[in-house]
This record gives sequence, structure tokens and C-alpha cells, in this order.
Amino acid sequence: MKTTFDLIVLGAGSGGLAAAKRAASYGARVAIVEGDRVGGTCVIRGCVPKKLLVYGSLYKEQLETATNFGVNVRNSSMDVAVLLSNVRDEVDRLNLVHIDLLSKANVELVRGWGRFINSNCVRVYKEEPDSTYRDLYASKILIAVGGNPQRPSILGAELGWVSDDMFLQKDFPPHIVVVGGGYIACEFSSILNGLGVNVTQLVRSTYLLRGFDREISGALLEEMQNKGIKIYFEQDLLSIQGSLGDLEINTKNGEKYFCGGLLFATGRLPLTSGLNLDTVGINLSNKKIPVNNFQETATSNIFAVGDVTNRVNLTPVAIEEGRVFADRVFGGIDRRINYNLIASAVFSNPELASVGLTEEQAIELYGSKNLKIYRTRFRPMSKALSKSGSKCLLKLIINNNNNKVLGCHMLGENAAEIIQMAAIPVGMGATKFDFDKTMALHPTVAEEFVTMI
Ligand code: NDP
Repeated sequence: MKTTFDLIVLGAGSGGLAAAKRAASYGARVAIVEGDRVGGTCVIRGCVPKKLLVYGSLYKEQLETATNFGVNVRNSSMDVAVLLSNVRDEVDRLNLVHIDLLSKANVELVRGWGRFINSNCVRVYKEEPDSTYRDLYASKILIAVGGNPQRPSILGAELGWVSDDMFLQKDFPPHIVVVGGGYIACEFSSILNGLGVNVTQLVRSTYLLRGFDREISGALLEEMQNKGIKIYFEQDLLSIQGSLGDLEINTKNGEKYFCGGLLFATGRLPLTSGLNLDTVGINLSNKKIPVNNFQETATSNIFAVGDVTNRVNLTPVAIEEGRVFADRVFGGIDRRINYNLIASAVFSNPELASVGLTEEQAIELYGSKNLKIYRTRFRPMSKALSKSGSKCLLKLIINNNNNKVLGCHMLGENAAEIIQMAAIPVGMGATKFDFDKTMALHPTVAEEFVTMI
């Protein structure tokens, strides 16, 4: 059993896996340390199982309107337990795929939890620190341990689920309260609503999705409410009591809500507590590891990528950070990440996706008189026969002085797929003229982006 490596990676999630395999492809001897399942948040309890649940949750609505297209669906009832079980099977398959890919890449998988002994040595414990451990040595160490979801510190918080728990349920109770107004809250409210659960969403602020274009998130609010999700703002929780299946929620302004289950979608925090970072001179900033543009921490041979850092916490960013790190340090390739233009999507129903500046950010940077805002809102053709269902909203933020597209936002079906492609011209500095001279592809929703006047 080897104990000395060129690189030790702590955490086999998206960022760690990408870095380990890329470094090994340059001939580096790499060990990756993981105490949980290989695949990390995205594969095991995040993006992948979530998106599968999203697909499952959309069928009910489609089947309900299928008669308008002449499709007769008898007994279109939903067995949520089957969906949850099939999603878990797919996660199991992907977990094995990732283990196999590590082995093919010649990366040694070391099972257990890593703890720094010094800046070149990591002690790997099988479980909590005890007498069973193995010391690994390397000249470079990458921290890619990610984060986990947080419950607020209120009485009875342990009675609520966090997003990890949602994927472990055998079935869902008929009424669930979702706490939060961010990505996970909006996604799970939509999933649960689509699966036939009665959903109440409690948000502490006055709007959904802080950081997204306010007009787009306002339109999402309207569409979610149209689907029957009850959303209440300025709701700060005081306590939860009862037991799973029969919960009572009390808010600070004296309101009570009753439900069978509660999901806290109230943010995530890095998993740094067991790493012994003090020993290697790494201080946290706002509970995250500060890194520079080269993924370097305060200690020169220790690097960090992904959700454990103070950078953008999204899977593709973690993967790219891992690859850029390996390319620079082991491949001798000088490249760095452009954090300025990162497209992102919320897989709510309808989907919301965005690249570039929001209207609020553009006004702050350029002033409203230097901007031109284009928007169009309509019911897509897919809903024409049923005459029901969500409307789309497409929006462009243009700099009046040079005609550049500063932001491109969309609410509606396939928004994430469309914005992924729009991110290319926006990243290349496209102008509204460039969008306009692009021939429309008809009949589509996305053609509206090149025909807005
Ligand atoms: P977000 O930061 O998106 O949202 C957290 C929400 O919880 C906000 O509405 C916040 O309110 C609220 N909140 C925080 N603390 C409390 C509290 N004590 N009581 C009540 N409400 C509270 O975090 P999520 O948990 O939704 O997701 C975590 C991260 O995971 C995201 O930021 C994103 O990076 C990633 N993610 C990405 C996805 C994607 O790309 N599609 C999907 C899911 C997750 P306020 O706004 O007032 O602070």
C-alpha cells in the first residue's frame, strides 16, 4: 500500500474527482480520500437525483392536459415510491461508474475521513478519529470536501428534513412545508407540487431567489402560485413541535402552520470542521476557505476547489476549478477561470435560467438611462390547445451606448437549455444587432430572443 503521492485530494465530489483524474492523466500519483459515497453532493444527493425527480414531477401536468391533444390516459395516478426508488437505483449506478472511472484513471481511492497532521500529511480515519487510521503524504494537497445543508437554530429544528433527506424518503406525506426562497426551496416546492403534494413555502424575505432578476423571479412566483403552491413572505420560524407526519410550525409573527413534513432549504455550509485547518495555517473567512484565482489557499502547497471555498458554489464551477488546478500544477498549462459570466438555472416549474447582469445589477453599474430592456411574455405553443399552463418570460438587458447584451434571462420550458446556448454569444460580447441578424428558427420559444423589438 502506497503512502506517498504527488497529490492527495480530500473529497470525491465533482471538484475532487475532476482534479484527481486530470492530475493522474499527467502522470501524477494521486490518492483521493472519501468517507461518504463517491460522487459527492451533485451525484448522490443533489443535481442528478433532483433533476430526475423534476422529470418525474412534470408528467402529472402533461398527462392532465394530454386529452387536448387527443391522448386518452386512463388511471394516470402517480406512485411516488416507485419514482424515489428508481432514482436511488440510478444514483447507485452512477456511484459505481465514478468508482470505476477513478480506478481506470489510476487514482487510488482511500476510504475514510482526512485530517491534516501537517501541510504534507493527511491522517485518514475510517470513522470518527480513533485508533484505526492511515497516514498519507504528498507535496500537494487539494481540499474539495464540499458542504452540507444547514438547519436554522430554532426549537425543534431536528424535526425538519434537509435536502439530503428528501432523496431517502420512501414516499412523501400529503402536506409539506418548504422553508426558504432560494434554489433548493423553489426546486423542491415545484417537484413536490408536481408529485401531488400540497406545498406551503415560507420565505423570510419579501421575494424569491435573491440574486436573480427580480422581474423574472416575480414571474416565477406568479406561475408557482398558479399551480397551487401557497407562498408566504416575511415568515421567520420560531419553533417546530410534534412528530413526523404531524408537525406544528410557529412563526415569530404568531402564525401557525400544520403539515406532515418540513424541508429546510436554508442554505449550505462548507464541511471544514474535521479537517484540522488551524494546523496548516488556513483561516476561514465567513466559514469558507479563501482562495485566489489559482485555487491557492494561504498555505502554498494546499489548494481548494468547489463549495468549500469562497467562490461561486455550483457544480460546473467546481469541476472547472478542479481541472484548471490540475492543468496548472501538473500539466504546466497556464489557465484560469472566468468567474464573471456564469450561467445558472433553477429547475423549478417553470424553469428559470439566466446569464449576465440582472436589470437591478445593470442599473447599479450603468444607470437606467444607459440601458434598454426588452421583454416578451406569452403562452408557448405547447400550451395552445390546453389554453392553460405557465407563460414564458424572455428578457434582454442591453447597454444603450454600445448595444452589448449585458444580461439574458428566461422563465419557461427548456429555459436552462436555451440560456446555456445564449451564454456563448453573451460571453463573446454579442450586441443586440448580432442577436437581431440571427435568423429565427420557427416555431420555437427561443426565436423570441432574436426578434424582440
Ligand atoms: P440559497 O442560498 O439559494 O437559499 C437559501 C434560502 O434560505 C434563502 O431564501 C435565504 O433567505 C433562506 N434562509 C437562510 N437562512 C434562513 C433561516 N435561518 N431561516 C429562514 N430562511 C433562511 O441556498 P439553497 O439551500 O437553496 O441552495 C444552496 C446552494 O446550492 C445554492 O446557493 C446553489 O449554490 C446550490 N444549488 C444550485 C442549484 C442549481 O444550480 N440549480 C440547485 C440547488 C442548489 P435570504 O435570501 O433572506 O438570505
